[in-house]
Amino acid sequence: MNEDSLKKKLAKLNIGGLRYFDSIGSTNDEALTWAAAGAHDFSIVIADEQTQGRGRLDRKWFTPKGSGLAFSLILRPPASLLPHLSRSVGLAALSIAESCAGLGLDPRIKWPNDILLNDKKTAGILIENIWTGDSVDALVIGMGINVYKTSVPPAELLQFPATSLEDALGKEPPAREELLFGILSAFIHWRERMATDELIHAWEEILAFRGDQVQVQAGGESQISGELLGIESDGSLRLRDAYNKSVIIRFGDVSLRASA
Ligand code: ADP
Repeated sequence: MNEDSLKKKLAKLNIGGLRYFDSIGSTNDEALTWAAAGAHDFSIVIADEQTQGRGRLDRKWFTPKGSGLAFSLILRPPASLLPHLSRSVGLAALSIAESCAGLGLDPRIKWPNDILLNDKKTAGILIENIWTGDSVDALVIGMGINVYKTSVPPAELLQFPATSLEDALGKEPPAREELLFGILSAFIHWRERMATDELIHAWEEILAFRGDQVQVQAGGESQISGELLGIESDGSLRLRDAYNKSVIIRFGDVSLRASA
């Protein structure tokens, strides 16, 4: 993977710009800086290695050299999409999941921001916003996908088991340029449908643990248990608790687990 091979592969997609790095701290940091300096809509920062890759709440995301896909998309949402921005994580997750499905795999979205293959984490998403006053000026959507076995961190560093496309496929995965093309094509497709129910339904369809009892840990202390029912129109998660009441879980520092 290099700048030329990426530009060639993405030529048909009408991207806003591309910055490629052999090694970088975090693609999201670079994308936030570029967005603040006026990057065009659908510009991409991509790196072969991240040394300070981030998850939520400053947790680490590992991207060893040559092992995976780590990129950040810069979006400048038109006014018509501003009311739907809370769906962005679903849009990104669905794009990764669909491109995995296109390889013959059976991905699931662990709400809100992880993609699982064989119940193990294969990709994660981190979204950060740039605000002007009280309106979102740009959105940075970071995606990390474990492509080769070498991307999977040692188990002692993980709270949740991880895998890679190579492991799940049991053979050499397609080139990373090819995978990126697939993800971005799906992203373009779903972005055009961001305001539709179709997006919510497609997202709901491949939710991990749907119909199962789950536990949601919110903000460290409170824990909510219930049956995972689906997604609300703003992307919140809907559970049914032991009293048969609907419980809506909004985004935030929440982590979802199947009940033992
Ligand atoms: P979670 O979804 O578990 O709440 P985050 O979205 O914040 O976590 O992602 C960061 C976490 O993901 C880290 O704490 C680490 O356990 C795990 N992690 C880091 N790098 C990878 C990777 N390449 N593959 C799978 N899991 C990873």
